[in-house]
Amino acid sequence: MAETILRFAPSPTGGFHVGNARTALFNYLYVQHYGGKLLLRVEDTDQKRNTGTSLQTILESLGWLGIAFDGEPVYQSQNAEAHRRAAEQLLESGHAYYSYLTPEALEAERAQAVAEKRPLRFDRDLTPEQRAEKEARGLPGVVRFRVPEGETVWNDRIRGESRWDNGVISDFVILRADGSPTYHLAVVVDDYEMGVGFVLRGGDHLSNTPKQMMLFEALGWEVPEYAHNTLLLGPDGRKLSKRHGETTVTEYREKGYLPEAVCNFLALLGWAPGDGREFFTREELIEAFTVEGMLEKDAVFDEQKLEWLNGEHIWARPHADLVQEAVWRWRDEGWIKDGEAESRRAVLEKIVALLQPRVRTLQEFRTFGYFFNDPDHYEEKARKKQWKADTPGRIEALISRLEALEGFDESEVEAATRTLAGELGISTAKLIHPTRLALSGVGFGPGLFELMEVLGKETCIRRMRKALEVLGEAYTVPAD
Ligand code: GLU
Repeated sequence: MAETILRFAPSPTGGFHVGNARTALFNYLYVQHYGGKLLLRVEDTDQKRNTGTSLQTILESLGWLGIAFDGEPVYQSQNAEAHRRAAEQLLESGHAYYSYLTPEALEAERAQAVAEKRPLRFDRDLTPEQRAEKEARGLPGVVRFRVPEGETVWNDRIRGESRWDNGVISDFVILRADGSPTYHLAVVVDDYEMGVGFVLRGGDHLSNTPKQMMLFEALGWEVPEYAHNTLLLGPDGRKLSKRHGETTVTEYREKGYLPEAVCNFLALLGWAPGDGREFFTREELIEAFTVEGMLEKDAVFDEQKLEWLNGEHIWARPHADLVQEAVWRWRDEGWIKDGEAESRRAVLEKIVALLQPRVRTLQEFRTFGYFFNDPDHYEEKARKKQWKADTPGRIEALISRLEALEGFDESEVEAATRTLAGELGISTAKLIHPTRLALSGVGFGPGLFELMEVLGKETCIRRMRKALEVLGEAYTVPAD
């Protein structure tokens, strides 16, 4: 059996919506799992709405997501000749006809059809003389498809048996008055010429399918299989759109999401593995994906889940990759200078290792300025809770112990802190929390002793002294 050919067919008329990315991903997972080829077709016939930047964004987004295609992209606009030939063929075989309604007549016809609850049927039965007469009057002639009687039925590979009464479908235009093909004709001719055997596309194309199937049949071409995935909804149950916030792949990329997390998340919007698993690497997705696992239920886009999955993927990423991601952001914040990334490599790696299990998006690397700069304020809530009347004396004592240390690695710092706590007869937590506040300005973060090792002795002591000065006697809580 010849291998199945699929295609992804974006229109370059705006940003690359996550719903389109999801369709591309399912096509990709299909060919990766079952074998076959995935072609890219750029549907650029709407010249008024096409933009070069949009095409570039689509290509970049697909590349970023790791969705690869076989061969070079096909441009629909370059196939206009074949589209016209197909229209000619349909005219010759009687499946299409010229129609010359003026806009006013069309409007009247439409109103009447609505009143009679019937589809629009136009100049179906014009005689050659009537045609010639209309052309002589200079009326613009479009080519319409003669919708046959009956029903169009297909076995949708996601939605099961699907039926459409042809009686509700109007004779649609396939060639405009200027000779340019319309969307339906172009899609069918291109799918045929590209050898597409399976069309897996968005649910918003469902009502196009009967029209396109009729064209295939009228042209005597084998009809491909179809599958229409579900709609993507926002948390309020309405179709996902700008009103819900970010909707393009570029925006998610800029928010610090990893491509593998976005793919994992999108795959779960409309597909489920059946065993409740949620975390998937790309290889695992390819392995687990099946058409049977694709769901009929509309999917809700829940960004909190994406954030959670992203945290898991950040955790799973090789450490070295993340160092790069963190470093350019820190440089962008002005926390490290050009060239320092190399000279301070070892310390930067340690910081990333500390943060890797804690950040949910790459942008969160930008919230840890205290690894580079002394805090310039102290979180009020933590100060109220942790900085008590007897804290300064304890911090002074800890400074003396730290000063006396020869080395400053995590275990030495920890031992010194625990010993002091023992001598003072207090829990180590009573030293840990205020010291963390002094070092970072906040009341939470990675393990204190790891943090201290990374900051180094001099910085730790300087910051503890500064906290003594600034927080001094600003106690709101009495001594223990
Ligand atoms: N160009 C269409 C779109 O972006 C897709 C057409 C199709 O998949 O048949 O929605």
